[in-house]
Amino acid sequence: MDIYEIESKDLENYFIDFRNYIKNCEFVGCTHIKEENCGIKEALREGKIQEERYENYIKIYNDLKDKEEHKW
Ligand SMILES: [Zn+2]
Repeated sequence: MDIYEIESKDLENYFIDFRNYIKNCEFVGCTHIKEENCGIKEALREGKIQEERYENYIKIYNDLKDKEEHKW
């Protein structure tokens, strides 16, 4: 599977270890980057998600966003 074929909003589905914490996000459609009261960031603070994983998520997310914005 090519991760760069997916949409940025679907990226979280590929981070299986994020799944348990997404329900703790206050906002539907939370990107887990800038939002407050984010379940992912909370889990990160508590050491339940590895920082490396989270940084990887942000990196891919930004790449996908960038690609989407330059699509048109
Ligand atoms: Zn979130």
